[in-house]
Amino acid sequence: MAFIPYGRQSITDDDIQSVVKVLQSDFLTQGPAVPAFEKAIGQYSDVAHVVASNSATSALHLACLALGVKAGDIVWTSPITFVASANCALYCGAKVDFVDIDANTYNISVEALTKKLKHAETVGKLPKVVIPVHLSGQPCDMKAIYALSLKYGFSIIEDASHAIGASYQGKKVGNCQFSDITIFSFHPVKIITTGEGGAATTKDTKLARKMQLLRSHGVTREASEMTQAADGPWYYQQIDLGFNYRMTDMQAALGLSQLTNLDKFIDARRVIAKKYNDGLSTLPLTLPWQDQAGESAWHLYIIRLDLTKTDSHLNVFKKLRAAEIGVNLHYMPVYRQPYYEQFNFDKNDYPNAEQYYAEAISIPVFYAFNDTEFAHVISSLKQSLLK
Ligand SMILES: *Cc1c(COP(=O)(O)O)cnc(C)c1O
Repeated sequence: MAFIPYGRQSITDDDIQSVVKVLQSDFLTQGPAVPAFEKAIGQYSDVAHVVASNSATSALHLACLALGVKAGDIVWTSPITFVASANCALYCGAKVDFVDIDANTYNISVEALTKKLKHAETVGKLPKVVIPVHLSGQPCDMKAIYALSLKYGFSIIEDASHAIGASYQGKKVGNCQFSDITIFSFHPVKIITTGEGGAATTKDTKLARKMQLLRSHGVTREASEMTQAADGPWYYQQIDLGFNYRMTDMQAALGLSQLTNLDKFIDARRVIAKKYNDGLSTLPLTLPWQDQAGESAWHLYIIRLDLTKTDSHLNVFKKLRAAEIGVNLHYMPVYRQPYYEQFNFDKNDYPNAEQYYAEAISIPVFYAFNDTEFAHVISSLKQSLLK
């Protein structure tokens, strides 16, 4: 059996043709494909503005900057996420803090968030922005988080890197009904891909414009945004300190083509999740718990070991890897990263995240995952759990 990764992209001939077409065209970047991709994402997610970028990491940075995050500010996120959800605040010179996860969903805990906000208010350390992460593609309890944002005055960036195609209360994630900005990732391991790439969605015209400006050096060609009349047709002005975070037209063409298969990808992931739910139900494992308010995109299928009945986490992991199964752990709590040691987080503040880290394993889920591979994962897992 060839190695089975925990996730992988599916590229069609149409995907390839659409990239080739761009390569044969006049524009490799800053042509028509990026705006077309942005429009298509906007239609899919039912949101007015989409700003595509060269990664979700840069989109998170743009989102923080657009919301005015700067030195002296505090940004909160979940500790069980990829480091980029926290690093974006550090890029802006702000401080990061973490809110423990919910023991069932593994998303940011609304109970812990409520408690932490109450305390932060008394000590004058309320966050400027909170970044809920839709871990594995399951939407966070956005309605409750939004209600807290109104009470305590913070902005919300949804890190939906795992969650394009997921829905919350019957509507697509990315519509920003309960947030200021939502971020998608198009890294190959995610649900659809552009190679590298990301996007920020928002209902807010000003936030969208700010992110567009900062994506491309802070440079404008709009007369209304300039400090003086143009010197001539060559004229542009830099009115802010931006970056080059642009997506190329090759990437956008791939994304546009991938987007046509998104619902098919999600359906397949839901079928695999259902098969796992059935196939693993009798094993000493905790299977993913689904909040009825949302429908996951199933970027990840995360199991947790009942360590009183199974071999150790490390041994199960090693045995699965030896069986050519690319199991992974999403994620080590960010505060445990060596770079974050300087901030002196106390792991005792995050009991749910710590327990999750001791028990969780991501097993394969991707569009082209076949029945033979599925059977191999199930039988290997059964074997690996034995002491
Ligand atoms: C993948 C990922 C990112 C970063 O995405 P890139 O497109 O690789 O920059 C950010 N947050 C989460 C939760 C992710 O999984």
